[in-house]
Amino acid sequence: MSRTQCPRCQRPQSHCLCPLIPSLDSRTRVLLLQHPSEVNHALNTARLAALGLNNAELIVGEVFEDLPRLLNQPGYQAQLLFPADDARPLQAYAPCDEPLLLVVPDGTWRKARKLLHLNPLLAALPRVTLAEGGVSRYRLRKAPGPGALSTVEAIVQALQVLEAPASFEGLLRPFEALIEGQIAAMGEEVFRRNHAGK
Ligand SMILES: [Zn+2]
Repeated sequence: MSRTQCPRCQRPQSHCLCPLIPSLDSRTRVLLLQHPSEVNHALNTARLAALGLNNAELIVGEVFEDLPRLLNQPGYQAQLLFPADDARPLQAYAPCDEPLLLVVPDGTWRKARKLLHLNPLLAALPRVTLAEGGVSRYRLRKAPGPGALSTVEAIVQALQVLEAPASFEGLLRPFEALIEGQIAAMGEEVFRRNHAGK
């Protein structure tokens, strides 16, 4: 069975999320670097974040040849959203500071670490972190630990901290619909499996 895909959100046309994707402006620029293994994942939340933010870019790859240009955006200070002992909490940024170019590796922890390993410029960036205690609405995929967030949730939290009182909650709408759809599809599959041949 071939299903036509929406070229923008890459969901099946029948489940296109585009009407739910906002078009939000932000002072922060977001650069998403996605490991190729994430591209065809049904829950590609990095793509939803990139589509919903006007000042965001998503690049897929393992080795990013263009990194010097991508990281040197005039008027922005590049920071990597990734854990480290000396990572600075985003809460420490004042609104008057130079806007951030928030660089977000997208993939499992293992794949994200690999991206850092393969791109020394990335690994050398100063790091920022979110406050502890973020609760994920992401119930389907095994998270690497308590409080672990999906990529779009992490970006929403980061922007809420950096640009309060602006709200970026709208970015979560297509994500929530996606999750509801996944749960419904899973239910259907379980139902079919249990009732097969009866
Ligand atoms: Zn679409």
